Amino acid sequence: MNEQQDLFECTVCGNKKTTSATSEGNPICCGNEMQDISARTISDYKLQSLKQKSALIQFLQVLKKRVSKDCQYLDDKEVIDELIKKNTDLTLLLAKDLLEDEKKQDLSDVLINIMDDLWVSALVEYPKYAEQALSESKIAACKIFTDAAVLDRETIEALETILYHAEVGSETV
Ligand SMILES: [Zn+2]
Repeated sequence: MNEQQDLFECTVCGNKKTTSATSEGNPICCGNEMQDISARTISDYKLQSLKQKSALIQFLQVLKKRVSKDCQYLDDKEVIDELIKKNTDLTLLLAKDLLEDEKKQDLSDVLINIMDDLWVSALVEYPKYAEQALSESKIAACKIFTDAAVLDRETIEALETILYHAEVGSETV
């Protein structure tokens, strides 16, 4: 049998420990059971990579538009095209793999994870960005950040409705 090594984290001191799960339960640290973070960590890494790659592709598209206007950058345009293609392929692989992870999760777990992120961006991050943009008199950026926060709240509301339907649906089954 394959020995499954899991990664555990102490929620008190942050100490991490790799060990195999035993019948006695999770290892103990600071008087508490440590949390199994192995699955969460890898999924988080995948999501993080997906975000990074998606952003990179967007920036490469912008760069491509800039260099396309000028003939002297013809070779650069080819390099950018190649980078966009390679990054897109990898992003698609990541998305597919992430979807496989989420298939094993309940729909409500997936929704709650997305909403947790959205609450942070809608209530903390975008308002902070908008405030700084305003303080630097960057009105266009301020408006984009404000709109992004509004859109996040709208998304949360829609997801809450979907979550409600999912919970009602699972109760009647
Ligand atoms: Zn500890």
